[in-house]
Amino acid sequence: MAIRILSTHLVNKIAAGEVVERPASVVKELIENALDAGATRIDVMIEDGGRKLISVADNGGGMSAEDLALAFAPHATSKLAYEEDLFAISTLGFRGEALASIASISHAHIRTRQRANDGGFEAKASGETAEDVRPCPASPGTTVTVRDLFFNTPARRKFMRTVNTEMGHITEQLTRLSLPHPNVAFTLTNNGRQTQNLPSAETTAQRVRDLFSVDLAEALLPLSPRGHDVRVAGLIGTPSAARGSGKWQYVFLNGRYVRDRLLSHALREAYRGLLEPRQFPVAFVFLEIDPGEVDVNVHPTKIEVRFRNGQLVHGELLAAMKETLNKADLSPRVSFAESNDMGEPAGDDEQRRQSLREAMADFFKKAPPTQPRFSFPEGQSPAPHSANASAPAFAGQYTPQPQPQLASAPAMGRTVTPAPPLPRPAPAQSPAAIQIHNAYLIAAAEDGLVIIDQHALHERILYNEFRARLAGDAGRLTAQRMLIPETVDVTPAEMATLDNHSHLLERLGVEVAPFGPNSMAVQQFPSLLAERGVEAGPFLREMLDKLAEDETTDPERLMEDLLEMMACKAAVKAGDPLTQAEIDSLLRQSESVDKASSCPHGRPTTLKLTLKDLAKQFKRI
Ligand code: ADP
Ligand code: MG
Repeated sequence: MAIRILSTHLVNKIAAGEVVERPASVVKELIENALDAGATRIDVMIEDGGRKLISVADNGGGMSAEDLALAFAPHATSKLAYEEDLFAISTLGFRGEALASIASISHAHIRTRQRANDGGFEAKASGETAEDVRPCPASPGTTVTVRDLFFNTPARRKFMRTVNTEMGHITEQLTRLSLPHPNVAFTLTNNGRQTQNLPSAETTAQRVRDLFSVDLAEALLPLSPRGHDVRVAGLIGTPSAARGSGKWQYVFLNGRYVRDRLLSHALREAYRGLLEPRQFPVAFVFLEIDPGEVDVNVHPTKIEVRFRNGQLVHGELLAAMKETLNKADLSPRVSFAESNDMGEPAGDDEQRRQSLREAMADFFKKAPPTQPRFSFPEGQSPAPHSANASAPAFAGQYTPQPQPQLASAPAMGRTVTPAPPLPRPAPAQSPAAIQIHNAYLIAAAEDGLVIIDQHALHERILYNEFRARLAGDAGRLTAQRMLIPETVDVTPAEMATLDNHSHLLERLGVEVAPFGPNSMAVQQFPSLLAERGVEAGPFLREMLDKLAEDETTDPERLMEDLLEMMACKAAVKAGDPLTQAEIDSLLRQSESVDKASSCPHGRPTTLKLTLKDLAKQFKRI
């Protein structure tokens, strides 16, 4: 096989494969050029999610006729003249390949005018051809128009997703580019409808408010500026503003959005002990480093970087966040529901204690102590020996129960003062089990004993129940109408996501409707979740995060992921004291459930010790 030098067109097309993954990549490159040109206003117009048209208009410096003649040429850039510049980059672009690559796979057009000139110039390029520069009327600045993206690369074209998905990616790029430039005004329009309007703002907090929500902007703590070689500034979320995915962690290095393991690690580390394992802090962090200390030329889209002294950057960022978190008042709120669950009032106040005792005594007069606090799964007939199962379930209601002796040991680090004598539950019928540390159940099995993780088992039971319902005649979960719809702030991309998955939501029994320009109201909600006291607002929030994070496009897989999340939310938690009736009910249900030995995430629900194991351990055999 003979060695050949590739044609310029082919080289551009190959470069395009690296730089232009989808319409959002074009938007990114064009906005970067506009920012490099000093624009203070940037308008992005899209048609059909970018498939048909992408246009970025700016009011920046513009180009001369000579510059425009070179703009579509590969490796033509005004931003890098000498080799040493490569190690001191202060502009967003510098490789000079974006316009050449984009034009090689689309019909591209540039119209530009330098403010001092009376008229402007235009040029066209497409595939292998580029037309000469021509004079034309134009307002100051540059407008780049890209039509029919991927017209000559059918493989890429096929990879384009729905308009909503592509718009989601475009919105995300706009978010990343507009956060470090709050003073620059941006708009985004798709098919004639404006989806983002970001007026010029004074502060990052204002930009966050316009991009996301007032709620989020108010839950941010400013980082006190610090550092010498590494300057750190920005805003970080309070622990209660944390999200279900790391998507809300925006880290910028010298004005460029980056993803970096070291920096994500610093974020996790700063919140250690303040968040549950699957929660991620929200952060908008801006790092400034001497450009010579970092290599941004390690990735074609420059999203990954290499630090000369990574430990220093990590250390400075961590210190800045810790300082802010230490200073802030983050004392966790003790919710009354929790103190009820503990069978103890939250404070030492004797009066409150007394009234709680009275309330408990009162309650026991009305409700039989065997009433399960969680209802039996829908459609499943209660076990025959459960006397009260047909009575209405006291979902989420206060049902204090005396705990078996073991469980009244100090729980969650709190000392429990002996409670006044209360009626004891009738001795449990088979299967007998006790709860320890409000987290595990220990039960006798025919040939030994089992230890059950109450949360994992309940998760499995609920998950199977959801699946059975969806596979059943109705094909969907039973929903209940919200008396007062709960509203959730959403971004345009999230609105699009909800729209995209409307069928899925319908099957899950979730109904949402727009409520003002930036929020959604939950109008219907799965009954099983409502009965378990799950709140509709936070649930929708988590579901959106899950959908945003989920890479899969397989609707079944997505459904499973959501069901797992729902089961997890609705299940009893480690730390929830259970009544004897609830324990019995859980164990009975586990007998009739498939895959009862593992939770939907694959972790075991049950550990077993056989009599033989015990005998061995005690050296009886
Ligand atoms: P790079 O940004 O890496 O230099 P590009 O291919 O993106 O390469 O752009 C090539 C050149 O065209 C830039 O260096 C710049 O001089 C010019 N250019 C592109 N877009 C604009 C714009 N919006 N305003 C002014 N000049 C621009
Ligand atoms: Mg560029």
